[in-house]
Amino acid sequence: KIAYQISGLTKTYTTGEIEVRALRGVDLAIRQGEMIVMLGPSGSGKSTFLNLIGGLDTPTDGQILFEGKELTGQDDRFLTQYRRHYAGFVFQFYNLIPSLNARENVALVSEIVSDPMPVDEALEMVGLKARADHFPSQLSGGEQQRVAVARALVKKPRVLLCDEPTGALDSATGIKVLDALAGVNETLGTTTIIITHNASIAAIGDRVLYFADGRIAKEERNEKRQPAS
Ligand code: ADP
Ligand code: ADP
Repeated sequence: KIAYQISGLTKTYTTGEIEVRALRGVDLAIRQGEMIVMLGPSGSGKSTFLNLIGGLDTPTDGQILFEGKELTGQDDRFLTQYRRHYAGFVFQFYNLIPSLNARENVALVSEIVSDPMPVDEALEMVGLKARADHFPSQLSGGEQQRVAVARALVKKPRVLLCDEPTGALDSATGIKVLDALAGVNETLGTTTIIITHNASIAAIGDRVLYFADGRIAKEERNEKRQPAS
């Protein structure tokens, strides 16, 4: 089963006279349940790619099929539904609501979908059930990011799209976040895509894609996936 079938994906940003070709025709198939790590220098198009397949932005050219259905050319209403029900997002910054505790931050998202996972189960999956009553200010950066992962997965998304999820963390806490993501991928079979700068975590992916200059320059398959820790 294929999660994403992507062909000729192109994105050109135009600012005044200046054109930036962020993606130059990417072709890629991503299997359901696959764990993908994306590496590559800053400016090589990784975030642009993730934003396009997450329905946060629209391509200049090319096609994205999600589970066989066109994502490209759909209106905002369709993309909002797609983001809300099918895609979970984790970014470098956690964006938790400071006045709500961990459980409430996760519950807020669980209330907007039809068939959420129980909030405590989502917190348990990231190893934070015991911290459910803590407010963001009482949690470490790594713990806050794991709350953000719980918030993304409580919707039971088909895909988890993670842009530099460990970018603000030291390597030891970063590993706990990655372990949580790997656990979700393994337990729920959620297709997971992780952008990172840290080449040492590439081993947690089934596949590593190296972006360069708006293209996928190289890919490697990990025969036996390594645990992050
Ligand atoms: P990466 O995630 O690999 O660092 P990006 O996808 O963020 O790369 O950026 C790819 C290129 O597109 C870069 O040259 C960047 O400056 C440019 N870019 C990204 N977003 C925008 C935007 N909103 N407007 C104009 N240029 C952008
Ligand atoms: P809503 O469901 O409130 O209409 P959206 O459709 O805009 O929200 O977004 C759906 C999901 O996508 C949200 O759960 C949110 O986490 C994520 N999301 C969308 N845009 C962004 C963004 N620019 N930064 C961070 N997360 C975003």
